[in-house]
Amino acid sequence: MKDTHKHQGKRNQLLKLLESKGITDQAVLDAMRGVPRHLFMDSGFEEHAYQDKAFPIGAEQTISQPYTVAYQTSLLKVKPGARILEIGTGSGYQTAVLLGMGARVYTIERQRSLFKKTRLFFDRMGYRPRKFTFGDGYLGMPEEAPFDGIIVTAGAPRIPRPLMSQLAIGGRLVIPVGEDPQTMMLVVRKSEKEFERQALGEFRFVPLLEDKN
Ligand code: SAH
Repeated sequence: MKDTHKHQGKRNQLLKLLESKGITDQAVLDAMRGVPRHLFMDSGFEEHAYQDKAFPIGAEQTISQPYTVAYQTSLLKVKPGARILEIGTGSGYQTAVLLGMGARVYTIERQRSLFKKTRLFFDRMGYRPRKFTFGDGYLGMPEEAPFDGIIVTAGAPRIPRPLMSQLAIGGRLVIPVGEDPQTMMLVVRKSEKEFERQALGEFRFVPLLEDKN
C-alpha cells in the first residue's frame, strides 16, 4: 500500500474535522498530517482509516480514535527533542505522531504478537523510537527516566506510582483513568514531591492490563 494524493486529501478532511472539534495545536495537526494512518491498519480496512473512530487492530486491541490521539498529544505539549514515554504501542500510530513532532520516543507494548508485528512495521516504515520494548507498562521504563512526558493509551484503574516517579520536574503525564468510560487525567510534576492533577473529558479505551503476555 502507498500514501497517495487521495489519502492525503482524506487526511486533510479529517484534520479539518479535528479542528472543528476543538483541536488547535498546529504542531499536533501538522504531525498527524504527515502520518499515513491507513498503513497502520490491515489493508482492506482502508476506507475506515480517515474516519474519526477507533478501529480493531487484532489481539483484541484498537488503534485509538484520531480525536483522542490529537487530544492526548496536545496535552503533552511536546517540544522537539523531548523525551516521551508511551505505554501501549499498539499499531504504532501514536508513536509515529510523536516522532513526527521531533520527540525522542520510548514505547512499551505488553502483547507479544502486536509487539512483533509493530516492530517489523516500524523497521519497514523507517520509524525509529529510541526504545521499543515488550513489557508491562505499569512499571514504566525506570532505566530511561526521567521523561518530559508520559502518555498512556489504555484505560488504567489507577495512576501507577512508577509513572509518576519517572516524570521530570515540569513533566506531564496524560492517562485515562477509571472504568468505561475513563476520565482523562493530566498530572504535572511541580516539584520532587508535588503533583498537580486535573480531570478532563471522558474517553473510551481498551483496559491497561497488568503484566505481559
Ligand atoms: N497507541 C496505540 C493504542 C493501542 S490500544 C495506537 O495508536 O494504536 C492500547 C494498547 O495498550 C494495546 O496494544 C494493549 O495491548 C496495550 N497495553 C495494555 N496494557 C498494557 C500494559 N500494561 N503495558 C503495555 N501495554 C499495554
